[in-house]
Amino acid sequence: MKLSPEEARRRIEELREEIEQHNYNYFVLNQPTISDAEYDKLLRELQQLEEQFPQFKSPTSPTQRVGAPPQTEFKTVKHSIPMLSLANAFSDDEVREFDARVKKLAEIDKIEYVAEPKFDGLAVELVYEDGVFVLGSTRGDGETGEDVTQNLKTIKSIPLRLRQPKDLPIPRRLEVRGEIYMEIADFRKLNEEREERGEPLFANPRNAAAGSLRQLDPKITAQRKLHIFCYDVGQTVGITFRTQEELLRTLPRYGLRVCPIYRVCKNIDEALEFYREMQERREELPYEIDGVVIKVNDFEIREIVGEVSRNPRWAIAYKFPPKQATTRVKDIVVQVGRTGKLTPVAVLEPVPLGGVTVQHATLHNQDEIEKKDIRIGDWVLIQRAGDVIPEVVQPIVSRRTGTEKKFTMPERCPVCGDRVVRLPDEVDYRCVNISCPARLKESILHYASKGAADIEGLGERWVEALMNAGLVKEIPDLYKLKERVIELVRLERMGPKLAENLLNAIEKSKKISLARFIYGLGIRHVGERLAELLAQRFRTLDALMNASEEELLQVEEVGSTVAQSIISFFQDERNREMIRKLREAGVQIIEEVSPQKAGALAGKTFVFTGTLKTLTRGQAEALVKAAGGRVSSSVSRKTDYVVAGEEPGSKLQKARELGVTVLSEEEFLKLVKT
Ligand SMILES: [Zn+2]
Repeated sequence: MKLSPEEARRRIEELREEIEQHNYNYFVLNQPTISDAEYDKLLRELQQLEEQFPQFKSPTSPTQRVGAPPQTEFKTVKHSIPMLSLANAFSDDEVREFDARVKKLAEIDKIEYVAEPKFDGLAVELVYEDGVFVLGSTRGDGETGEDVTQNLKTIKSIPLRLRQPKDLPIPRRLEVRGEIYMEIADFRKLNEEREERGEPLFANPRNAAAGSLRQLDPKITAQRKLHIFCYDVGQTVGITFRTQEELLRTLPRYGLRVCPIYRVCKNIDEALEFYREMQERREELPYEIDGVVIKVNDFEIREIVGEVSRNPRWAIAYKFPPKQATTRVKDIVVQVGRTGKLTPVAVLEPVPLGGVTVQHATLHNQDEIEKKDIRIGDWVLIQRAGDVIPEVVQPIVSRRTGTEKKFTMPERCPVCGDRVVRLPDEVDYRCVNISCPARLKESILHYASKGAADIEGLGERWVEALMNAGLVKEIPDLYKLKERVIELVRLERMGPKLAENLLNAIEKSKKISLARFIYGLGIRHVGERLAELLAQRFRTLDALMNASEEELLQVEEVGSTVAQSIISFFQDERNREMIRKLREAGVQIIEEVSPQKAGALAGKTFVFTGTLKTLTRGQAEALVKAAGGRVSSSVSRKTDYVVAGEEPGSKLQKARELGVTVLSEEEFLKLVKT
């Protein structure tokens, strides 16, 4: 069906409205009315139409939530009204003092408050001009933050265009403030994935939310499940609020998400009551809160009360006490994680803490145990702070009897009995055995994952079933499955059709690029991107396997920790054996073409600083990439060129210090054209 431009324009507008309505239903109201598949279909139709009719593209189209190119640095944004931070209170008395102070300053003896949960996330400001989302920034130091507009656009509960309420105008300017957060379940899942990839873990949901929002590549932010709760405004033109209550009721009508849990309190006692209720309820919430914010409801009174040294005097954050308890350490055992990491865990006398019974607490690593001097048999103080997993704060030394025993890390893996190593500069001990049963399932899943061999249909359920049936013990066994079809078909819920599909998918994965293969091996610290760089540099698997530390260190992004990790992986006979078996089974590793063919700047690294006169940053980066080079955001010894535009930053100075070649814009253009 061919549409006329006019028909296309109408359909595009229809689709945009419909899709944003679904975003609103799903992410703001939490009441989806269509399936994900139907939603995707609408979005695809819109994408196709916008491609066919580029004249109708718009920055507020739902298709524009993703797809912005990565940046090299964040621009800074000055907040038109500073984003103040709240003073904290830790006791009822301090809250009552706050109440007394407000009354005195306002010369009123009855003050109404609004009490809201204090979300443990990252504060941001969204700017809407004539209803269009034009700028989003982090709180930063309160005066200036970072421009994270593109990243905020990927969060579907943030409207790109305000909804039009029936009886309210769209304000000329509306600065909305709120908190970006990650739900606890999504935080756990993210950390599991990171552990699998050997990436550092986030300490708590707040760090995960902040780390996800402050990504130079919005595509990464888009993959993380972030949400917003709005609770305040900055500068406004064309709309005024008289009370906090009015603000919280009005924002949702514009499509801005407000947490439904809050209370208008006639006096401070009611606010304290709300605090106690929230303390009880916090365990049930899907997100972390670390206290309650108590704000004067009436904005006129706020004006009178004012602020002092960057804290408003009309609001206070009443923090929850850390959840702590004392109990005894019955034993210290060692758990083996997905990457072979050995984690000492304290087995505790069960103790209630924050609504759950705690029986285990992580001790993180050997250094931590030594630093805190935690012994088996000790009475200890444990807590659950922002973290989900309880931890031991300190031993109660005065309760020692002399029978307590010190803990030492086992020299052998408690699961498979293999060697345990501690890499230089690392606090963790690891089981070296890639076939350690504790690690096996995860390493198979990792090998089969999208970025590696991409074996469709081989998810957690089937890997478990295959392992339980004894059909697969290690990765190479996947390629022998075709010899055991009868047993495979007999697996519960498998059947001939699924078995055939699975075998086909496995067969297809036999042809695999070097980069994917390296990534699939699951070498600690080697993610998808680094695997690609390694493949480009070494071009054959054998070259990589025999690479010396010096050679590895020449690769951009490889430091000594990573180099050591790669070397010790390939030094292990079992890993070499696994690679041999994979090749024998017919796995064909497609090696990289020589870099000469790739372009004039192949392997060269560029860093840009300052403003270019004739090119945007994006265009300049595209030129580098087209010629086979790469762009980095920071200057190091491995940088080949720094291109300095007008008003260059500290990167220029760093380049000079390190002796890196500095190019002017003209010199850069000359270089890319040759
Ligand atoms: Zn082991």
